Amino acid sequence: MTRHIILTCVLISLLLSCNEKPSFIDFTYPKGKTKALVLSYDDGTIQDIELAKLFDENSLVGTFNLNSKYLGATRGWPQQNGDTIYQRYVPKDSLTIIYKNHEIAAHGALHKNFTGISSEEVLEETNTDLEIIEKLTNREIISMAYPFGSTNDSIATLIASTGIKNGRTVDDTHAFDFPRNYMMWHPTCHDSKVLDYLDSYLALNDQKLSVFYVWGHSWEFGNNERWENMVEFCEKIGKSKDIWSVSHGKLTNYLLAIENVQIGKRQIINPSYNAPIWINLSSGIEKLDPGESIQLKR
Ligand SMILES: [Zn+2]
Repeated sequence: MTRHIILTCVLISLLLSCNEKPSFIDFTYPKGKTKALVLSYDDGTIQDIELAKLFDENSLVGTFNLNSKYLGATRGWPQQNGDTIYQRYVPKDSLTIIYKNHEIAAHGALHKNFTGISSEEVLEETNTDLEIIEKLTNREIISMAYPFGSTNDSIATLIASTGIKNGRTVDDTHAFDFPRNYMMWHPTCHDSKVLDYLDSYLALNDQKLSVFYVWGHSWEFGNNERWENMVEFCEKIGKSKDIWSVSHGKLTNYLLAIENVQIGKRQIINPSYNAPIWINLSSGIEKLDPGESIQLKR
């Protein structure tokens, strides 16, 4: 009789432990979110100071792509109509203050068009950015916005060889998808169109990971209406609790870490040494720390 009770208990506990094991449904962003926002701004002109402040006030994170050789300078840019636009660039000794909460990224040391120069010059433009910006900020630079958005497959491969992990173009997709190649990352839209997509992204309710990728130049906000639109956008999207506001570099690292996760029949393993991953299991949202594994239902 006692033997029978013990056997029954063992069977019940085995069944219970079996049921405790969840099944894998999908990856999520941190805390179970599935939507993300990237704000990528080019050139590093002094208007970045106000824009970074606007992002800070709304708990948003930006990625600022700088031309390292123009830092602290004033430069005239001749226009096709004969006018010249003068740009003032952020001072080199203030980068970690201005962009304290934001990513600093490369944009070509002298803003040369990469499709119009040699491979050696492309590498020179990029490596100079990396050297100067990393020295000034003590940060690792892993993101780039191509000057003029101009690139091609071989340039993308060349840039990747420097250790940069993503490269942004200016070819708007008007969608919230990811690129197949992170070095040819086409954004959702320029910020002049940002309000056109805001409501549909706020309403999006999808388990699939997505990103609303906005790009622009802070110096374009001299136009008051454009600035007011951006303020409205930041205030509205900043209040949305289900959107992960993230730098381009951090998002890229997260997606790369997801690619490395090993999903077997019995367990899911995060082999990364420094990147936690969030997953949606049948039992709920779980954080999978670096080196951690979770047993799955067979
Ligand atoms: Zn630019």
